[in-house]
Amino acid sequence: MVHFSNEEVFGWITKNQVPMLRFVKRVNETEISSLAMDVPMGKIEWQNKRLMEFVRKCISLFPPNAIERAFCKRIDFLPTAWFTRGSTPQKPNVTAVRQDAETEFSLPCGFATFMSKDPVNVYRQRIELYEFPDYLPPLVESVYLAYTFIHEFSHVIQKSSFYYKHYEENFLKDVVSNEPSHFLVIGGEKIDPRKWQEDFLERALKYPPITTYSGIYKDVDDHVRIHEYMADYMTTYIMGFAMNKDARTPENGFDDKPEMFQLIKNFIEAKAVIVAK
Ligand SMILES: [Zn+2]
Repeated sequence: MVHFSNEEVFGWITKNQVPMLRFVKRVNETEISSLAMDVPMGKIEWQNKRLMEFVRKCISLFPPNAIERAFCKRIDFLPTAWFTRGSTPQKPNVTAVRQDAETEFSLPCGFATFMSKDPVNVYRQRIELYEFPDYLPPLVESVYLAYTFIHEFSHVIQKSSFYYKHYEENFLKDVVSNEPSHFLVIGGEKIDPRKWQEDFLERALKYPPITTYSGIYKDVDDHVRIHEYMADYMTTYIMGFAMNKDARTPENGFDDKPEMFQLIKNFIEAKAVIVAK
Protein backbone atom coordinates (compact mmCIF):
# COMPACT_ATOMS: atom_id res chain seq x y z
CA MET A 1 0.00 0.00 0.00
CA VAL A 2 1.18 3.52 -0.67
CA HIS A 3 -0.04 5.95 1.99
CA PHE A 4 1.22 9.33 3.10
CA SER A 5 0.92 12.93 2.03
CA ASN A 6 2.66 12.82 -1.32
CA GLU A 7 3.24 16.54 -1.75
CA GLU A 8 6.97 16.50 -0.97
CA VAL A 9 7.64 13.47 -3.16
CA PHE A 10 5.71 15.06 -6.03
CA GLY A 11 7.91 18.17 -5.65
CA TRP A 12 10.99 15.94 -5.67
CA ILE A 13 9.91 14.34 -8.98
CA THR A 14 9.53 17.76 -10.57
CA LYS A 15 12.95 18.83 -9.25
CA ASN A 16 14.62 15.76 -10.79
CA GLN A 17 13.05 16.16 -14.18
CA VAL A 18 15.93 14.84 -16.33
CA PRO A 19 16.27 11.34 -14.80
CA MET A 20 12.49 11.12 -14.37
CA LEU A 21 11.87 11.89 -18.04
CA ARG A 22 14.53 9.32 -18.94
CA PHE A 23 12.70 6.71 -16.84
CA VAL A 24 9.28 7.48 -18.37
CA LYS A 25 10.83 7.24 -21.85
CA ARG A 26 12.28 3.83 -20.93
CA VAL A 27 8.84 2.58 -19.83
CA ASN A 28 7.13 3.95 -22.94
CA GLU A 29 9.70 2.23 -25.17
CA THR A 30 9.26 -1.11 -23.39
CA GLU A 31 7.52 -3.71 -25.48
CA ILE A 32 4.56 -5.35 -23.71
CA SER A 33 5.50 -8.98 -23.09
CA SER A 34 3.05 -11.87 -23.55
CA LEU A 35 3.31 -12.64 -19.81
CA ALA A 36 2.28 -9.06 -19.07
CA MET A 37 -0.69 -9.46 -21.43
CA ASP A 38 -1.80 -12.51 -19.44
CA VAL A 39 -2.36 -10.48 -16.24
CA PRO A 40 -6.15 -9.84 -16.28
CA MET A 41 -7.64 -6.35 -16.07
CA GLY A 42 -10.77 -6.09 -13.89
CA LYS A 43 -12.85 -2.93 -13.38
CA ILE A 44 -11.96 -0.22 -15.86
CA GLU A 45 -13.19 3.18 -14.69
CA TRP A 46 -10.35 5.43 -15.82
CA GLN A 47 -10.82 8.34 -18.20
CA ASN A 48 -7.21 8.03 -19.39
CA LYS A 49 -6.95 4.65 -21.14
CA ARG A 50 -3.39 5.33 -22.35
CA LEU A 51 -2.16 4.94 -18.78
CA MET A 52 -3.56 1.42 -18.64
CA GLU A 53 -1.18 0.46 -21.42
CA PHE A 54 1.56 2.19 -19.42
CA VAL A 55 0.75 -0.20 -16.55
CA ARG A 56 1.20 -3.22 -18.86
CA LYS A 57 4.57 -1.80 -19.85
CA CYS A 58 5.46 -1.52 -16.15
CA ILE A 59 4.72 -5.26 -15.72
CA SER A 60 7.02 -5.91 -18.69
CA LEU A 61 9.90 -4.24 -16.83
CA PHE A 62 9.99 -7.30 -14.53
CA PRO A 63 11.98 -10.34 -15.68
CA PRO A 64 9.85 -13.28 -16.93
CA ASN A 65 10.58 -15.45 -13.87
CA ALA A 66 9.19 -12.77 -11.57
CA ILE A 67 6.00 -12.29 -13.63
CA GLU A 68 5.52 -16.06 -13.71
CA ARG A 69 5.73 -16.18 -9.93
CA ALA A 70 3.10 -13.42 -9.49
CA PHE A 71 -0.32 -14.83 -8.62
CA CYS A 72 -2.40 -11.84 -9.69
CA LYS A 73 -6.12 -12.33 -10.14
CA ARG A 74 -6.75 -8.92 -11.68
CA ILE A 75 -5.95 -5.22 -11.73
CA ASP A 76 -8.82 -2.79 -11.06
CA PHE A 77 -8.65 0.77 -12.40
CA LEU A 78 -10.79 2.84 -10.02
CA PRO A 79 -11.83 6.52 -10.06
CA THR A 80 -9.86 9.20 -8.17
CA ALA A 81 -10.05 9.00 -4.38
CA TRP A 82 -8.41 10.69 -1.40
CA PHE A 83 -7.53 9.64 2.13
CA THR A 84 -9.85 11.21 4.66
CA ARG A 85 -8.75 13.05 7.79
CA GLY A 86 -7.91 10.53 10.48
CA SER A 87 -6.99 7.78 8.01
CA THR A 88 -3.84 5.88 9.04
CA PRO A 89 -1.61 3.29 7.33
CA GLN A 90 -3.12 0.67 9.69
CA LYS A 91 -6.72 1.79 9.09
CA PRO A 92 -6.88 3.45 5.69
CA ASN A 93 -10.08 5.25 4.79
CA VAL A 94 -10.69 6.64 1.32
CA THR A 95 -13.33 8.95 -0.11
CA ALA A 96 -14.38 9.93 -3.61
CA VAL A 97 -15.51 13.34 -2.30
CA ARG A 98 -12.71 15.87 -2.66
CA GLN A 99 -14.07 18.10 0.16
CA ASP A 100 -13.58 15.21 2.62
CA ALA A 101 -9.91 14.71 1.67
CA GLU A 102 -7.20 15.23 4.25
CA THR A 103 -5.31 17.33 1.66
CA GLU A 104 -5.48 17.42 -2.12
CA PHE A 105 -2.25 15.39 -2.19
CA SER A 106 -3.44 12.64 0.18
CA LEU A 107 -3.91 10.19 -2.64
CA PRO A 108 -4.25 6.45 -2.01
CA CYS A 109 -2.73 5.60 -5.44
CA GLY A 110 -2.95 1.83 -4.98
CA PHE A 111 -3.44 -1.26 -2.86
CA ALA A 112 -2.75 -4.99 -3.22
CA THR A 113 -5.25 -7.20 -1.41
CA PHE A 114 -6.13 -10.85 -1.11
CA MET A 115 -9.47 -11.71 -2.67
CA SER A 116 -10.79 -13.38 0.41
CA LYS A 117 -14.42 -13.52 -0.76
CA ASP A 118 -13.67 -15.61 -3.82
CA PRO A 119 -13.73 -19.28 -2.74
CA VAL A 120 -11.91 -20.56 -5.82
CA ASN A 121 -9.13 -18.01 -5.89
CA VAL A 122 -9.02 -17.18 -2.22
CA TYR A 123 -5.27 -16.68 -2.21
CA ARG A 124 -4.99 -14.84 -5.46
CA GLN A 125 -4.29 -11.17 -5.12
CA ARG A 126 -5.96 -8.15 -6.63
CA ILE A 127 -4.35 -4.77 -7.30
CA GLU A 128 -6.45 -1.62 -7.07
CA LEU A 129 -5.19 1.53 -8.74
CA TYR A 130 -6.85 4.95 -8.33
CA GLU A 131 -6.77 7.43 -11.16
CA PHE A 132 -4.75 10.56 -10.37
CA PRO A 133 -6.59 13.90 -10.30
CA ASP A 134 -6.06 16.16 -13.32
CA TYR A 135 -4.25 18.83 -11.27
CA LEU A 136 -1.10 16.66 -11.14
CA PRO A 137 1.50 17.45 -13.83
CA PRO A 138 1.79 14.60 -16.42
CA LEU A 139 5.38 13.75 -15.42
CA VAL A 140 4.39 13.39 -11.76
CA GLU A 141 1.42 11.29 -12.79
CA SER A 142 3.52 8.88 -14.90
CA VAL A 143 6.34 8.47 -12.38
CA TYR A 144 4.00 8.05 -9.44
CA LEU A 145 1.73 5.64 -11.27
CA ALA A 146 4.79 3.55 -12.17
CA TYR A 147 6.02 3.68 -8.59
CA THR A 148 2.63 2.74 -7.14
CA PHE A 149 1.99 -0.06 -9.56
CA ILE A 150 5.49 -1.56 -9.39
CA HIS A 151 5.29 -1.41 -5.57
CA GLU A 152 1.95 -3.27 -5.57
CA PHE A 153 3.04 -5.80 -8.18
CA SER A 154 6.16 -6.42 -6.08
CA HIS A 155 3.85 -7.21 -3.13
CA VAL A 156 2.06 -9.76 -5.30
CA ILE A 157 5.33 -11.44 -6.34
CA GLN A 158 6.60 -11.38 -2.80
CA LYS A 159 3.46 -12.87 -1.26
CA SER A 160 3.27 -15.42 -4.07
CA SER A 161 6.85 -16.33 -3.25
CA PHE A 162 5.69 -17.78 0.03
CA TYR A 163 3.16 -20.17 -1.47
CA TYR A 164 3.45 -20.00 -5.28
CA LYS A 165 0.71 -21.35 -7.52
CA HIS A 166 -0.28 -24.19 -5.28
CA TYR A 167 -1.92 -21.86 -2.79
CA GLU A 168 -5.16 -23.78 -2.78
CA GLU A 169 -3.61 -27.12 -1.96
CA ASN A 170 -0.60 -25.96 -0.05
CA PHE A 171 -1.52 -22.89 1.91
CA LEU A 172 -2.93 -24.62 4.98
CA LYS A 173 -0.46 -27.47 4.76
CA ASP A 174 2.37 -24.93 4.77
CA VAL A 175 1.03 -23.13 7.79
CA VAL A 176 0.61 -26.36 9.73
CA SER A 177 3.84 -28.07 8.72
CA ASN A 178 5.85 -24.87 8.28
CA GLU A 179 7.36 -26.43 5.17
CA PRO A 180 7.62 -24.39 1.97
CA SER A 181 5.56 -25.42 -1.07
CA HIS A 182 8.33 -24.29 -3.40
CA PHE A 183 11.93 -23.20 -3.53
CA LEU A 184 13.56 -20.29 -5.32
CA VAL A 185 16.51 -21.27 -7.48
CA ILE A 186 19.26 -18.72 -6.88
CA GLY A 187 22.74 -19.35 -8.29
CA GLY A 188 21.87 -23.01 -8.88
CA GLU A 189 20.90 -23.44 -5.23
CA LYS A 190 17.38 -24.22 -3.97
CA ILE A 191 16.45 -21.72 -1.28
CA ASP A 192 13.40 -21.61 1.02
CA PRO A 193 11.84 -18.19 0.22
CA ARG A 194 10.98 -17.61 3.86
CA LYS A 195 14.59 -18.10 4.91
CA TRP A 196 15.58 -15.71 2.16
CA GLN A 197 13.19 -13.09 3.54
CA GLU A 198 14.60 -13.42 7.04
CA ASP A 199 18.09 -12.89 5.67
CA PHE A 200 16.84 -9.90 3.67
CA LEU A 201 15.34 -8.20 6.72
CA GLU A 202 18.42 -8.78 8.86
CA ARG A 203 20.60 -7.11 6.24
CA ALA A 204 18.13 -4.33 5.36
CA LEU A 205 17.98 -3.24 9.00
CA LYS A 206 21.65 -2.24 8.85
CA TYR A 207 20.78 0.59 6.46
CA PRO A 208 18.42 3.57 6.46
CA PRO A 209 15.11 2.79 4.68
CA ILE A 210 15.61 2.88 0.92
CA THR A 211 12.59 5.12 0.18
CA THR A 212 10.61 7.87 1.85
CA TYR A 213 7.55 5.63 1.93
CA SER A 214 9.15 2.53 3.47
CA GLY A 215 10.63 4.81 6.17
CA ILE A 216 7.10 5.02 7.63
CA TYR A 217 7.50 1.35 8.66
CA LYS A 218 10.88 1.79 10.39
CA ASP A 219 9.49 1.15 13.85
CA VAL A 220 6.65 -1.28 13.23
CA ASP A 221 6.77 -5.04 13.81
CA ASP A 222 8.88 -7.21 11.51
CA HIS A 223 5.94 -8.90 9.80
CA VAL A 224 4.61 -5.63 8.34
CA ARG A 225 8.02 -4.03 7.91
CA ILE A 226 9.44 -6.87 5.82
CA HIS A 227 6.65 -6.54 3.24
CA GLU A 228 6.97 -2.79 2.77
CA TYR A 229 10.78 -2.82 2.83
CA MET A 230 10.95 -5.62 0.27
CA ALA A 231 8.35 -4.04 -2.02
CA ASP A 232 10.31 -0.80 -2.16
CA TYR A 233 13.66 -2.54 -2.61
CA MET A 234 12.15 -4.43 -5.55
CA THR A 235 10.63 -1.21 -6.90
CA THR A 236 13.96 0.61 -6.64
CA TYR A 237 15.66 -2.21 -8.54
CA ILE A 238 13.03 -2.23 -11.32
CA MET A 239 12.77 1.58 -11.67
CA GLY A 240 16.51 2.16 -11.44
CA PHE A 241 16.18 4.82 -8.73
CA ALA A 242 14.88 5.14 -5.18
CA MET A 243 11.81 7.29 -4.51
CA ASN A 244 13.58 9.00 -1.66
CA LYS A 245 13.03 12.71 -1.28
CA ASP A 246 16.22 13.01 0.79
CA ALA A 247 18.43 11.40 -1.88
CA ARG A 248 20.95 13.84 -3.32
CA THR A 249 20.56 12.34 -6.78
CA PRO A 250 17.79 9.89 -7.60
CA GLU A 251 19.87 7.25 -9.34
CA ASN A 252 21.95 6.14 -6.38
CA GLY A 253 19.43 4.08 -4.43
CA PHE A 254 21.86 1.21 -3.85
CA ASP A 255 25.13 3.20 -3.71
CA ASP A 256 25.43 2.97 0.07
CA LYS A 257 24.16 -0.65 0.15
CA PRO A 258 25.70 -2.64 -2.75
CA GLU A 259 25.08 -6.04 -1.08
CA MET A 260 21.34 -5.29 -1.17
CA PHE A 261 21.43 -4.74 -4.93
CA GLN A 262 22.70 -8.27 -5.58
CA LEU A 263 20.35 -9.76 -2.99
CA ILE A 264 17.23 -8.20 -4.48
CA LYS A 265 18.37 -8.88 -8.07
CA ASN A 266 18.73 -12.58 -7.18
CA PHE A 267 15.26 -12.66 -5.64
CA ILE A 268 13.57 -10.96 -8.59
CA GLU A 269 15.31 -13.13 -11.18
CA ALA A 270 14.83 -16.42 -9.31
CA LYS A 271 12.87 -19.27 -10.81
CA ALA A 272 10.39 -21.08 -8.54
CA VAL A 273 10.30 -24.88 -8.34
CA ILE A 274 7.52 -26.79 -6.62
CA VAL A 275 8.53 -29.08 -3.81
CA ALA A 276 7.30 -32.62 -4.47
CA LYS A 277 4.96 -33.72 -1.65
ZN1 LIG B 1 2.96 -1.63 0.30
